[in-house]
Amino acid sequence: MLLAEIIGVGTELIYGETFDSNTAEIARSLRGYGLEITRTLRFADELPALSGQLKESLSRCRLIVLSGGLGPTPDDITREAIAEALCEPMEPDPSMVQAIQARFASMGRQMHESNLKQAMKIPSASWLENPRGTAPGWWVHKENLDIVALPGPPAEWRPMWEELLPKLLLPAKNYRQKSFKTYGLGESQIVQVLGGFFRRQGPAEVGTYAKSHGVDVVIRGEPQAVSQLADSIRPLIAANIWGEDADTPQGLLVARLAKAGQTLATAESLSGGMLGSLLTQVPGASQVYLGGMVCYTREAKAFLGVPQGVLEKGTVSPECAQAMAEAAARGLGATYALATTGVAGPEELEGQPVGTVYIGFAGPSLGGAKRFRFPASTRELVRERASYAALTLLLAGLVP
Ligand code: AMP
Ligand code: MG
Repeated sequence: MLLAEIIGVGTELIYGETFDSNTAEIARSLRGYGLEITRTLRFADELPALSGQLKESLSRCRLIVLSGGLGPTPDDITREAIAEALCEPMEPDPSMVQAIQARFASMGRQMHESNLKQAMKIPSASWLENPRGTAPGWWVHKENLDIVALPGPPAEWRPMWEELLPKLLLPAKNYRQKSFKTYGLGESQIVQVLGGFFRRQGPAEVGTYAKSHGVDVVIRGEPQAVSQLADSIRPLIAANIWGEDADTPQGLLVARLAKAGQTLATAESLSGGMLGSLLTQVPGASQVYLGGMVCYTREAKAFLGVPQGVLEKGTVSPECAQAMAEAAARGLGATYALATTGVAGPEELEGQPVGTVYIGFAGPSLGGAKRFRFPASTRELVRERASYAALTLLLAGLVP
């Protein structure tokens, strides 16, 4: 099998000041090719370490992709590291100097001398134009080896990489991935239901991944085997599947409500606006999502219209969740409303442990509240899981 290695460059990646999402995203984009990726790497902005790694990788890889370290500052050393590993000299390319100057001029700015660094190239590299930034990339094509250096910012490298990928003439692979997105089942319950399928060795394999929106069941491998396995697995968990593949609960919900000409309102306590934020991620959400209120305190819940009698008995309760949803639906004249109330932590509240959440709903086919206990969760996770629980509950409650 041919090897690919992906290297994120930047000292900030080592310490997590910037979360390295590039190497994973690049690896994902290579999944349909006949390349083996057994590791991705992160390197600090240190020339000897990176060039040493590249020298080692050169001998075994069909493809090496680097991201980051193409900036104008002295700490950006990706170009130098590749030059050193390939024992090639770097020289300024006059046409690239002009191009960078022109780019600065178009922004009404003077090019800084340090940007000249970004016009340096080794003879075997060709330029990868970067219309969204000043750092062009490098593509070094050798017999049986391609080295690609991309800038760090995703908005810059994504279009460059998309354009380059077909030109790399990488071997194709017969590969497919199918995901079922579930709610209301823990990983261990899924393993119990699908037990036999996990232990199977063959051209397709099954994995589960716990996410804030529920557990994803992912089948990957040879396309026909994936389809067969998916057909066997689907009926076993059908009642708990809310979506497939790239679906998001907010995306599906907006689409379903828009199709039915229905609307949605929210009333959020512990999720503090996260539910509304998820909904408004979806283009066209305004067709469906009328708005909501973050009613964090007892007074805010009273202002929304939750009856005093309900509030006096406690705000972390099914009655409060339901009253919040009903008040939101009434107040905005929405078909449906979702409400969240609960204990995000770190302290317990009203004698209820961290992770206790009530989702309230109101609408034609719905009404009431559902209780959740998200165990051993951080504050952020409880808020996230509460928001997704509200979305998936409504999705499941809508008549298709
Ligand atoms: P650089 O090209 O190294 O100057 O990186 C410029 C910017 O790109 C960084 O400040 C980050 O915002 C982003 N970036 C760089 N590397 C990564 C990475 N591995 N994952 C996600 N973002 C990155
Ligand atoms: Mg950097």
